[in-house]
Amino acid sequence: MSQIDGLPPLRDVITRHGIAAKKSLGQNFLLDLNLTAKIARLAGDLTGADVLEIGPGPGGLTRGLLAEGARRVVAIEKDTRCIAALEEIAAIYPGQLQIVNGDALEVDTTALLRPPVKIAANLPYNVGTELLVRWLTPPSWPPFWESLTLMFQREVAQRIVAAPGSKTYGRLAILSQWRTDPAIVLDLPPEAFTPAPKVSSAVVHLRALPAPRYPADPDVLNRVVATAFNQRRKMLRSALKPLGPDTEDRLNHAGIKPTARAEEIDLEGFCALARAYTA
Ligand code: SAM
Repeated sequence: MSQIDGLPPLRDVITRHGIAAKKSLGQNFLLDLNLTAKIARLAGDLTGADVLEIGPGPGGLTRGLLAEGARRVVAIEKDTRCIAALEEIAAIYPGQLQIVNGDALEVDTTALLRPPVKIAANLPYNVGTELLVRWLTPPSWPPFWESLTLMFQREVAQRIVAAPGSKTYGRLAILSQWRTDPAIVLDLPPEAFTPAPKVSSAVVHLRALPAPRYPADPDVLNRVVATAFNQRRKMLRSALKPLGPDTEDRLNHAGIKPTARAEEIDLEGFCALARAYTA
């Protein structure tokens, strides 16, 4: 029995339910419940909040979130093998854990959640970045969530907090820093996971700002930044050509030298450029 909730250790749960880790689903599990409780605490005060958890797997982080006092957890898991294990957790937290067996890229979660909402997840890389971009680029702001507490490969975490001029500066840094204040709050070695991945991981905490730092249309900003960094070594006057005519005029209008490269432009510059493309 574990100290945090009296449920069996996660290794037993995995064996009993036959949840051998599948590479295709990016399954690297956290089995140390003290660690999952620590990650849950990094999400802030959960009492009185609904938590959206993506990819609960056998439920390590889910148990951490509930033990730390989450009002409710809504957990979206694609792997049907995990559902019976998650139902055992739901049984000892009556009415507090809603399990959805589905693909997080397809489930509309907003109808399932009551504000305030916090999002917490330990996700595979490809799904994680896709969801992060979606959470950061809704048409209006503030979004349905207050904060995101997300595990990423360390290299992805560094891209989220990167400053202009650095190798890792790009679309994730700009979209994240435009509407939130991201910070790396925990580093984890590969051995923290079962099976151990090849690379280190990090937890990033992103708190939604009440308003974006500078005005811009999210779709236009996303497109401008993706195009600019698609050919990051090129000068912007040629890198931005795929966006249409008048590239130099728009750059000048935004106060950016047409000979500059994407990695030299700060967030304020990219927002001005997005406005020049919206005009
Ligand atoms: N949260 C668990 C933990 O920390 O031990 C599991 C983390 S594991 C890195 C990622 C989890 O996401 C797996 O349980 C996997 O089945 C699930 N997953 C992968 N793709 C998904 C998707 N598109 N939608 C929902 N869950 C997904």
